[in-house]
Amino acid sequence: MPVDVLERAARELPDWDGSGASVMEQSHRGKRFIAMAAQAEADLRRLLTVPDDYAVLFLQGGATQQFALIPMNLAGPGDSADYIDSGHWSEKAISEAAPYVRVNVAASGKHDAYRRLPARDSWQLDPHAAYVHYTPNETIHGVEFHDIPEVGDVPLVADMSSNILSEPLDVSRFGLIYAGAQKNIGPSGLVVMIIRRDLLQRAGRPMARIFRYAEQAAHDSMLNTPNTWGWYLAGLTFQWLLAQGGLEAMAGRNRAKAERLYRAIDGSGGYYRNRIERSARSRMNIPFTLHDSALDAVFLQESEAAGLLALKGHKALGGMRASLYNAVPLEAVEALVEFMGDFSRRHG
Ligand SMILES: *Cc1c(COP(=O)(O)O)cnc(C)c1O
Repeated sequence: MPVDVLERAARELPDWDGSGASVMEQSHRGKRFIAMAAQAEADLRRLLTVPDDYAVLFLQGGATQQFALIPMNLAGPGDSADYIDSGHWSEKAISEAAPYVRVNVAASGKHDAYRRLPARDSWQLDPHAAYVHYTPNETIHGVEFHDIPEVGDVPLVADMSSNILSEPLDVSRFGLIYAGAQKNIGPSGLVVMIIRRDLLQRAGRPMARIFRYAEQAAHDSMLNTPNTWGWYLAGLTFQWLLAQGGLEAMAGRNRAKAERLYRAIDGSGGYYRNRIERSARSRMNIPFTLHDSALDAVFLQESEAAGLLALKGHKALGGMRASLYNAVPLEAVEALVEFMGDFSRRHG
């Protein structure tokens, strides 16, 4: 989270918006909360220039719940959906969708250990698929699509949990975009969704209203009491992004941060290594290994002592991973690079 946002939330915690109570204590039907929620949506729309024929939803249950709700809402009985398998989170999306739709894995990077993206001309897309699902940034494997794939008239669905708001985006290319909030937006549990309105009407099976996107859209994402705290913090993050100069400015910063770290890794003479094909390297999540994994524990211990947090790689891959989300300033990357150089000299 941006420090500015945390400090503002701390200041406003006991007495939000002159109400004499915290934002968590407001009625979500009250005019203060409704105004805040509408402003958050308007700011997100401005940041991403979301076209009018798209609805914006603030839902709950994390990106993981959407892995199931997407097929429940977008696919009818007997339908199939195409999935691009580019790493850990694609695999999760596939396994959670499988009870609700016939999943066609149209392409997979698994046989390459997810170190590159499956070439677009190898994708076995079905023109009759209910939708095509992909993960533009694989948070754990550190691979990222740097272009939006062309998939014809089939709605493109994207799990943008770890790259949303990191650069400008042409929303009109998508049928549905969703993002768990905890990487680039706010607290975990909240999910932000941008969905083309014609897709809201698809849900072909009986299911509870709470699971239906159309019902959520018709009730401003307030079928039940929303995550008021999460929504508020997301709104503060959107305001912060606008004040930073919007997504063009963030894109420039994020590019500079990633280039700085990749340059240090590639220039370390093999002491540090990132094995991802260059054209698919992620700007947000940079996994790297040490030349001798016996040093991993020392690296983590010393880096933490130096104030560099959360560098341990995911348990599925081991090694290290630096996540350079929007809230991470260039100075933090400079500090990491300096630490890495120093570490390699001391433990050469
Ligand atoms: C973190 C992450 C998820 C999981 O999000 P939850 O909110 O924990 O369900 C899903 N997809 C991607 C790409 C992620 O980075």
